[in-house]
Amino acid sequence: MRKPVVILLLLALLLSGCGGGSRAEARTRTVLAMDTVMTLTVYGADSDRVLDAAERELHRLDALLARGQEGSAVYAFNHGEAPEDATFSLLLETAEDIRASTDGAFDPYLGAVLDAWGFGSGAGEHRVPTQAELDAAPRLLDLGGIAKGWAGQAVQGILAEEGVTGAVLDLGGDVSLLGGKPDGSPWRVAVKDPEDTASYLGILETPGGCAVMTSGVYERYFEQGGRRWHHILDPKTGYPAQSALVSATVICEYGVWADALATAACVLGADGALALRARLADRIPFELILVTDTGQVLYTCDCFTPAKDSYRFERVT
Ligand code: AMP
Ligand code: MG
Repeated sequence: MRKPVVILLLLALLLSGCGGGSRAEARTRTVLAMDTVMTLTVYGADSDRVLDAAERELHRLDALLARGQEGSAVYAFNHGEAPEDATFSLLLETAEDIRASTDGAFDPYLGAVLDAWGFGSGAGEHRVPTQAELDAAPRLLDLGGIAKGWAGQAVQGILAEEGVTGAVLDLGGDVSLLGGKPDGSPWRVAVKDPEDTASYLGILETPGGCAVMTSGVYERYFEQGGRRWHHILDPKTGYPAQSALVSATVICEYGVWADALATAACVLGADGALALRARLADRIPFELILVTDTGQVLYTCDCFTPAKDSYRFERVT
């Protein structure tokens, strides 16, 4: 599913120490893909060629994965065809793996259910569907919860091959970090405050080689019957997840997992997300920053430094 065009301040990057000086010279490119304004910043590249390649890949993935676009692999798949595209096959396999690993909390087949709520690619009206509509919804592939993570990971791969020494890929607030900063200091990523999205609730410091992906119930929603209905659905009910989490940030080496796990965490809730982290520790290690609807922030790593008095922060394992 495609997100509206918004310049998300989700994770404002603090690039202090990266300006000026030839060694630290950055090349940047703004790309509009997946209905998202993306900003690519690379260090150690001697021409724009590498940014051209990154941009091409983002547009290629956009065209491949857009569910509502005739000609995309996802469109073909949802119309009973078997698209022969290596990237699509790999992504489908990964999505299935994540679905199994999250006990179905991440479900790539919610397309028709999302459409019924008006969160789908058909740009239908937002409304609460009837139970009969939800029951009758066919299983249609929707990779909206995973596409940007995949894109970040894919572009990271291209940049690494081209000899880029460091890069920040800001895909509408979801961030992929490659290599190190030119001055050797850690990357610093501000984690957005879901209550006040222009500010941040803490700072994450990381040496790079990871993705920082956030899912939040505030990102897309509508109001009906005096209630808010958001876009992260609980696959068990077909209704917006009611897990008491308002946002989940995942830090993981693999962008595609970071993206999917952030969505899954919003479905699973704090206890479920922490249990999942423990369960996957040997295979896909990741860190979590979870914000609850009662103003609590649970975080699993010392790389996160709280920065807001209005929340109760708790370091957990
Ligand atoms: P994200 O912003 O990464 O959390 O992705 C949210 C998008 O993922 C939604 O707009 C839907 O397209 C899709 N989605 C919603 N709920 C789920 C779910 N439980 N599993 C997988 N994808 C979902
Ligand atoms: Mg996600």
